[in-house]
Amino acid sequence: AKAFQRGELVTYADHLDEIVSARLKLLNKLKNAIHNNELCLYYQPKVSLVNGRTDGLEALMRWPTDDGFIPPQDFISVAESSGLIFELERFLIRQTCRDLKEIEKICPDTVIAINVSVPVVESEDFFEYVKDTLKEYNVRPEQLMIELTESIMIRNHKLINKRLNQYRNFGIQFSIDDFGTGYNSLTYLHNLPIAQIKIDKSFIDNMTQSNNGTFLSSVIISIANHFNFESVAEGVETAEQVAALKHIGCNYAQGYYFCKPCSLEDICAWMHQANH
Ligand code: C2E
Ligand code: CA
Ligand code: CA
Ligand code: CA
Repeated sequence: AKAFQRGELVTYADHLDEIVSARLKLLNKLKNAIHNNELCLYYQPKVSLVNGRTDGLEALMRWPTDDGFIPPQDFISVAESSGLIFELERFLIRQTCRDLKEIEKICPDTVIAINVSVPVVESEDFFEYVKDTLKEYNVRPEQLMIELTESIMIRNHKLINKRLNQYRNFGIQFSIDDFGTGYNSLTYLHNLPIAQIKIDKSFIDNMTQSNNGTFLSSVIISIANHFNFESVAEGVETAEQVAALKHIGCNYAQGYYFCKPCSLEDICAWMHQANH
């Protein structure tokens, strides 16, 4: 390979500098946003493909600013590479409990799924925080589900298994997010206390164009059925996808076809319409 010229190296280093300082700026801005209560949660329904009802919602973090919403991927990765993710997920738990009290006025047994970063779920302190906060708001653990990515498969197996079991014994369920895109180690799947797996949008996107998406989705649904997990399709956008998913026996679907993630006020109105 061609060696860097002196000038090129400097440009490269400058570029790295810019990235680092942009991320630092974002991190500080995020710290302030958390302290000033500027973040909120949007909600998206998980719709049953069997009876059309919605008894579950996914909470998705939103950060509105003067320049519009900052995408969660951007600020969550910044939070994850610093300790701030713990604070962010504590806010998430608290806000979910608060919002649930409003949602319950419309649908009493709603389950809210939240996305929690794997290192946070591993922490014993966080588990204690979750227990205390649920108690404080009088929320039943069965009303909370935690979505985790497949990266749990490559963590310290003993630790993650112990922690997930603590949550499960307390009454909180787990869902595996973006299933099929990550580490593809099915080895531990049957050992972990999992209730649900979510078929990644990339498979759903390919359902109508080629048969691969349909085939792979049905393989994932077979795995789910075998282990007694619920199956949820994510990123469902068309009636064709809904029909194909029903055909292969998927339990739930989530996506713009049914409802985009929306504010607490809007999701309450949607739930009222959908379930009454
Ligand atoms: P995810 O958990 O896989 O969430 C699904 C993403 O797909 C969401 O993006 C949602 O708005 C979007 N989506 C839902 N239906 C459709 C559809 O029909 N079409 C398309 N094109 N997109 C759809 P969002 O809200 O931007 O969140 C991105 C990611 O950020 C999430 O992916 C999740 O990994 C992460 N995230 C969001 N909130 C939190 C949080 O509170 N904590 C943590 N740790 N991560 C979060
Ligand atoms: Ca998710
Ligand atoms: Ca997902
Ligand atoms: Ca994702």
